[in-house]
Amino acid sequence: MRKYFIEAKCASCHTKLNDDETLIKGKPALKFIVENKGHKGYLWLSSIYGDHETIEPDELNILPGDVVSFFCPHCRKPLPVVDKCYCKAGRVKIELISGGGLVFCTRKGCYYGGISFSDPDDLDNFLGLNKKT
Ligand SMILES: [Zn+2]
Ligand SMILES: [Zn+2]
Repeated sequence: MRKYFIEAKCASCHTKLNDDETLIKGKPALKFIVENKGHKGYLWLSSIYGDHETIEPDELNILPGDVVSFFCPHCRKPLPVVDKCYCKAGRVKIELISGGGLVFCTRKGCYYGGISFSDPDDLDNFLGLNKKT
């Protein structure tokens, strides 16, 4: 299966979320601030589409099934909740650098989400971006 690399930015401040200093499977991971049961810390999600590897600090103690709040590590605004997952947790959205968006569920262990493009050119750009890597 082809692996797609996601480059994304915050929908509020438009700062890139990929962290060049933290790699998952060799690619800059997506960095967020998360809050779980009153504790805040950094969390990284794999930037390979369909890969669910994360880096989570132990002190956050995120267990499968926990719903966590996601914040931008730059402007610290909460990520916008766009809809409700079938699991009843909110789904949040980030923007792709190439255009389009990525939506994901805030419940640990629930991988219901995906990339969406409203403009066909955005899909072209996304695939073009991946051709170069
Ligand atoms: Zn931001
Ligand atoms: Zn869910």
